[in-house]
Amino acid sequence: MVSDFYELLGVSRSASEDEIKRAYRQLARELHPDTNPDKAAEERFKEVTLAYETLRDPERRRRYDMFGPEGLRGTGAGPGPGGAGAAGDPFGFGDIFEAFFGGSPFGGGAGGGFGGRGGHPRGADAEVRVTIDFEEAVFGAQHEVAVRLPLTCATCSGSGARAGTTPTTCSQCRGAGEIRRVRQSLLGQMVTSTPCPQCGGTGEEIASPCPDCRGDGRRTEERSLLIEIPAGVDDGATLRLSGRGAAGPRGGPAGDLYVHLNVRQHARFVRQGYDLVHELHVAMTQAALGAHIPFQTLDGDEDLVVPAGTQTGRVFRLRGRGVPHVDGRGRGDLLVQLVVDTPTGLTSGQEELLRQVAAERGEEIAPVEGGLFSKIRSAFK
Ligand code: ZN
Repeated sequence: MVSDFYELLGVSRSASEDEIKRAYRQLARELHPDTNPDKAAEERFKEVTLAYETLRDPERRRRYDMFGPEGLRGTGAGPGPGGAGAAGDPFGFGDIFEAFFGGSPFGGGAGGGFGGRGGHPRGADAEVRVTIDFEEAVFGAQHEVAVRLPLTCATCSGSGARAGTTPTTCSQCRGAGEIRRVRQSLLGQMVTSTPCPQCGGTGEEIASPCPDCRGDGRRTEERSLLIEIPAGVDDGATLRLSGRGAAGPRGGPAGDLYVHLNVRQHARFVRQGYDLVHELHVAMTQAALGAHIPFQTLDGDEDLVVPAGTQTGRVFRLRGRGVPHVDGRGRGDLLVQLVVDTPTGLTSGQEELLRQVAAERGEEIAPVEGGLFSKIRSAFK
């Protein structure tokens, strides 16, 4: 099946829309059935196209980043339980191909390459680990996290230049920030670009650097962030907060912040997918004669009706009392599994009653205290 979408396209998790588009275009050219008759190539083409279709759409990409392919279920973007390609051509591969190859092979022209013309490099991605309560994961919550990151320098507003001065255009790349090489190939013009070694890709030189950040435009500081935890997330999920990572040098765009979630266990419920499971102990008499047992769900108190003659191990399903699906469609169930407790510490009166029941039902039981059974039992003490 499909592996990681970013891996499939050969791009980093922080790749820009442009980078993703370029990577896909490159792969599609190699793998498209019109140019590559190999069957395996066709399969890969479909996988790569699915990856591209997911990552080019910001909303789908966000879901994928947060929850993996699972997060795409039911949104029309995911491969679905049947597997990719089973339903034929869900995205209209032909149309996509048309869109890319109909016009000029390099579409927009300028703007590609390292950081773009005169652009500043992007800041690094950052990650932080957050522990939340079980209920917060189930119902969603707002959570404050502290992160220590390079942030835009307040003194120079990120320019890196001392107050009253401005950066000047780099003499080597003339402000482009990159050195480009253009060559002709069978598929059209191929452009390779590398960051300018003189200015580090910023396209600017700073004669008089800001004293607080030494010309970098950033200072490492602690910042408190309020993050939104979506309802239904599970232990181990990762949220991606776009643009909340490290600031880029000299005013470059910020990287992303990845928030890894640890979910604390619940005292009474165990999560199984979107269902919650609870083991409920009832007395033998309640199971035999029937009972209404007050039961606390995550949504409030309910009366659990245990019919007369209920056996241990029976599962009662409270529909819709489980965990909400992360895509917002529906909720799991709460499964209450009954365990019938054998009464212990009987008074002599209670023992007498139980012996009467056993005698009436013709059930063979151990003889009264002092008999063979109690002697064996004492030997084990
Ligand atoms: Zn500064």
